Amino acid sequence: MAGTATTNPPAIGNGPLVNIAEYIIDGGVLDDVTALRLLLLPDDRVYDLMYAAYMVKRHYQGDKLHRCSIVNAKSGACSENCSFCGQSASYQKDSGVGTYPIMNADAILQAADMATEYGSTNFGIVTAIKGVKEGPMLDAICEAVRKIHAAGRIAPDASLGVVSEPVLQRLKEAGLQVYHHNLECSRSYYPEICTTREWSENYETIQRAKQVGLEVCCGGILGMGESVEQRVELMQQVASLQPDHIPLNFLVPVKGTPLENVEPMRPMDCLKAIAVFRLTNPRTDLFIAGGRIQHLRQLQPFIFQAGANGMMVGDYLTTTGRTKQDDLELVADLGLES
Ligand code: SF4
Repeated sequence: MAGTATTNPPAIGNGPLVNIAEYIIDGGVLDDVTALRLLLLPDDRVYDLMYAAYMVKRHYQGDKLHRCSIVNAKSGACSENCSFCGQSASYQKDSGVGTYPIMNADAILQAADMATEYGSTNFGIVTAIKGVKEGPMLDAICEAVRKIHAAGRIAPDASLGVVSEPVLQRLKEAGLQVYHHNLECSRSYYPEICTTREWSENYETIQRAKQVGLEVCCGGILGMGESVEQRVELMQQVASLQPDHIPLNFLVPVKGTPLENVEPMRPMDCLKAIAVFRLTNPRTDLFIAGGRIQHLRQLQPFIFQAGANGMMVGDYLTTTGRTKQDDLELVADLGLES
């Protein structure tokens, strides 16, 4: 193991990147220039990069596996115009995503029970809305959270948009463990993705959730047409929030949305992005959420070697996931601890 952390990351060189891993493990912080150079490594260096990220993951996370599932508890008719989202009222006519009101607490509890069958540790209640306010929707969600918490089989999480401190307080009192809200992308790219709210509203929502004492889950989506520099920017902006969990998504283009024709990221570039996300966020639970199947394809098992310590299982918000059997087999074959 290397000695005291130096202020500058070591040179990348042509060989294994163990020096980078040791620098991070010793408390070093990856600067933007080094992060960018790592993201731009040629494909034949991806295994060097993955090994460095794996060393860092093993140091901070061991072999522990995080698995979470979500339910889309209120679908569609969203007032926001996030250009990746088929639930926005602006694109729903063409996306074909349906609209339904908030599910009742028992139906949400039933979905939570299904998530436990996938071996999930966390269950997220997600709503398509700018932000849940006081009222019947919040009442139903709090009732569901209370029931899931009381059953004690899985940790209740929620993703309810840009919410106020009193709303977060109510959720916490009901037994919520984690509040999720993504930055979506870097601050500099956000105006290309959403114009109905400010990037700072996303950032501040996570700060508020931390202030009320909730665990926070905050990440973003890659492959939305951003530059490689903007990927680094997102990694560092997420790191500045020091979240407890980071969901890393790769865009699955939805028909009818402005991003429907975006060129998908190559699997090798996804692995590099996971690895550099790990190196810039060494202590955080990092899991792969949307786009794992479509982008990683045959390279899916490598997400764990690239530094992720978890994945979302089951269905996503508007797309279906792999079968429970396939994901359980993947975990068993890799010898990962649940
Ligand atoms: S991502 Fe969320 S806030 Fe944005 S349009 Fe979709 S449901 Fe609405």
